[in-house]
Amino acid sequence: MIRSLLLATSLIVSGALLPMEASAAQPANVGDAIIAASAYHDSGDYQRDFDSVVAQARLWIDEAAPKTRRPAIVLDIDETTLSNWDEIRADDFGYIAAGPCDALPKGPCGAIEWEKSGRAPAFASMRALIENAQAHHVAVFFVTGRHEDEREATERNLHLAGIRSWDGLYLRPMTSHGYAALYKAPTRERIERKGYTIIASLGDQPSDLSGGFAKKTFLLPNPFYRIP
Ligand SMILES: [Mg+2]
Repeated sequence: MIRSLLLATSLIVSGALLPMEASAAQPANVGDAIIAASAYHDSGDYQRDFDSVVAQARLWIDEAAPKTRRPAIVLDIDETTLSNWDEIRADDFGYIAAGPCDALPKGPCGAIEWEKSGRAPAFASMRALIENAQAHHVAVFFVTGRHEDEREATERNLHLAGIRSWDGLYLRPMTSHGYAALYKAPTRERIERKGYTIIASLGDQPSDLSGGFAKKTFLLPNPFYRIP
């Protein structure tokens, strides 16, 4: 009697929930993810979380640099040093490589045209981290997944964003495709072979940081896109 009552209750409960619950086999709804990602940015939580990671990195760099011979840091560019938020929002979190980017703040905005325009602002906290590192004689290297044909635009953008100098800018060879980590980790190895010790590596993707050749890694928030 008790058992059948419990069974009936559970059927009613599960029946009531059925229309609202997604099947376990379905991935997250992309429309809901867009709303959540926009709210994360617009609430200020993204900036707060970003600045918190930068602050941890600064503390570590200040501690490690004086104890290290030829200390260096490695920074990714997109969503680490420069913010592409204007393009990301205009494209509703999609990646549109081709086409013009002449309708901001509305979209669409071709990502390649956007990058070549050199309009991305720097994250203020990261610019300050760079200036602080340089004041403490720490070499600054950029290692980006952008390809070599964007070198001029990327250098111009960094200067326009107030980043005055750096010790090296490594872009991906035009023939290099596939997993970012397979290019980035060997690039850090090249930097260390020059005699530097990379005390910190900062990026917004796990693929920026995996594969070694850095004493500490710092992962910045980025729920907006994934670079495998
Ligand atoms: Mg990035």
